[in-house]
Amino acid sequence: MFERQKVVQIEVIGQGAFEPGRIFCVGQNYEAHAREMGLFAPKEAPIYFTKTPSNAVLAGGEIAYPPGTQNLHHEIELAFVIGADGAIAAWGLALDMTRRDVQAEMRAAGRPWDRAKDFEAAAVFASMCPAAEFTPNGQEIRLSVNGEARQAGRLDEMVHGPAELIADLSKHYTLRPGDVILTGTPAGVGPVQPGDTLLGQIDGLPDLRVTIGARG
Ligand code: ZN
Repeated sequence: MFERQKVVQIEVIGQGAFEPGRIFCVGQNYEAHAREMGLFAPKEAPIYFTKTPSNAVLAGGEIAYPPGTQNLHHEIELAFVIGADGAIAAWGLALDMTRRDVQAEMRAAGRPWDRAKDFEAAAVFASMCPAAEFTPNGQEIRLSVNGEARQAGRLDEMVHGPAELIADLSKHYTLRPGDVILTGTPAGVGPVQPGDTLLGQIDGLPDLRVTIGARG
């Protein structure tokens, strides 16, 4: 009847690629970031929101600056995917792109965050590393914009770690192979402009590079 927007295939180095199922994101999972947002941390239970898989894109190219915002922000995050056995199959870097002005409006009004968090190219994924080849501990997670350091934190600063997130999500959902979880962002979030080049890094994982294109 019509051609649907294809969902991207995220590469797992040496193992092929998969189509992301659901994309769950965790809010305020690094205390320093929660504080920069003017919020109290840590939270007793994780906060979740979701992104539509067809809004996911692969890193390495350019993403359009979306309409409906004057304050598009970067949030670099560690992501993982659930495998066939229900355990973590792979790890990688992801960007949780955010319309910060819209989020502030929605938060103040007590309304859902969807328009702030789920729009075209709102989730950007680098290639992932098989779980057998990476273990998150105290590695630094960082993001630079045009070579200038912006975000930094350590993976052991997460308020709710990956195992806890799986256990908690499993109280509310039946996690399925291909479901992807973004684990929250460290401090230093900020605006991007058309022409900016972003570089996200965690030692041991493939870099995430993306350029912000013209306003769409
Ligand atoms: Zn985030």
